[in-house]
Amino acid sequence: MSNSLFRQSFLIDSLYSDGALLSSEYTTDDGVLLKLHGPGILEVIPPHIDEQTQHIVVSCAIHGKDAGPVELVNRIVSDIDSGFQPVREHCLFIIAHLEALKHHTRFFDENLERLFDDKPREPSQELVIADNLKVLLKSFWKDTPSDQRWHFDLHSTLNPSLYHSFAISPKVRHPVRPKELIHFAELAHLDAMVLANAPSSSFSWYTADCYSARSLAIELGQSSRLGQSPLEGFNAFDITLRDLCAREINEHLPRKIKFYRVSRTIVRLNEDFDFIFADDVKNFTAFMHGEVFGNDGDKPLMAKNEGEAILFPDKHVPIGEPALLMVCPVTVRYEQNQLVYD
Ligand SMILES: [Zn+2]
Repeated sequence: MSNSLFRQSFLIDSLYSDGALLSSEYTTDDGVLLKLHGPGILEVIPPHIDEQTQHIVVSCAIHGKDAGPVELVNRIVSDIDSGFQPVREHCLFIIAHLEALKHHTRFFDENLERLFDDKPREPSQELVIADNLKVLLKSFWKDTPSDQRWHFDLHSTLNPSLYHSFAISPKVRHPVRPKELIHFAELAHLDAMVLANAPSSSFSWYTADCYSARSLAIELGQSSRLGQSPLEGFNAFDITLRDLCAREINEHLPRKIKFYRVSRTIVRLNEDFDFIFADDVKNFTAFMHGEVFGNDGDKPLMAKNEGEAILFPDKHVPIGEPALLMVCPVTVRYEQNQLVYD
C-alpha cells in the first residue's frame, strides 16, 4: 500500500501531471485527510473539525517567478504527507500558476495578481486561473465563521528590498486587521507591513473583501528559479505557519514590525514615462520631500512627504496601470482589537 499521496511531491506531481493527475485522497496514520482537487490544489482536513477550527488558505505562485515560497509550501505539504507535521486546522494549499512557474515567467497574458475584481476582461490563461480559485474558495469557506478564515498569499519581489520579508494588508470595509493577525506577523518575524489605503484587485484583497478573511500578501525574498531558491531567513515564518496549522503554542519570541501606510499609487499616464533611479532600485528606498525621481510625460514624479518610499516600481506597465506605490512610515495602535493608524 502506498504511504504517500504523491509519486514525487505536491510540486513535482502538479507541474508534470500534464492534466493526467486525477484528484485523489490519502489519510495519514494520524487521521489527517489529504484531498488533491487537481494539480496545485490540496485540501488538508484534520481528524476533528468543530466550531473552533480555523480555515487557512496558503497560496503561492500567483506569479511564476515566486519560486522560494513554492518550495516552502511544498516542504510543509511533504511533512504533512509523511505525518511529520501535525495538522489540527482545516487547510488549503494552492500553487496557482503552474505553467508560468514551469516556464519561469511572471505571467503569460496578464498579471494574475490584478484579476481578482469583477471587471470584465479579455479571456486569458490567467483569467481562467482566477475564476477557478474563486470557485475553490467559495466551497472551502462555505458555512465557516469569517473570523476563522485566514489567507496567506506568498510572493517574492522582482526588485531587491531593504526588508528581507514584508506583508501587504489589503484595505477593505471589514475588520481584517485583528491583533491575532498582526501577532502572527510578529511571530513570523516579518520585517515590515504595508497597510493599503484603497481597494485593489489582488488575491489577498479579494479574500479579505469577499470573505472577511484575515488576509496578507507576504513577500519572502527576491524572485528566483525552482531549485535555486534560498530559503534561509524564513525559519520563523515557516515555524509560525506550521504552528498555526497544527494549533500549537509558539515557542519563540515575536519581533516588532515596521509599519507603512500607502500614501499614493502612481498610475502611468503617458508613453513617455521613466524613473531616474536604476531598474534594480531597492523597495522601500526613501526620498526627501520634493525630490524628483522620474517623469510621466511633462509631469515630474516627486516625493510629497518626507521619507516617502517606493514599492514595486515597474516603468514597463501598460498605460493606465499602477507603476509604483508610494509608502510612508506610520505609527499604529489598536482600536477594538483592530490595527489602526491616525
Ligand atoms: Zn508574486
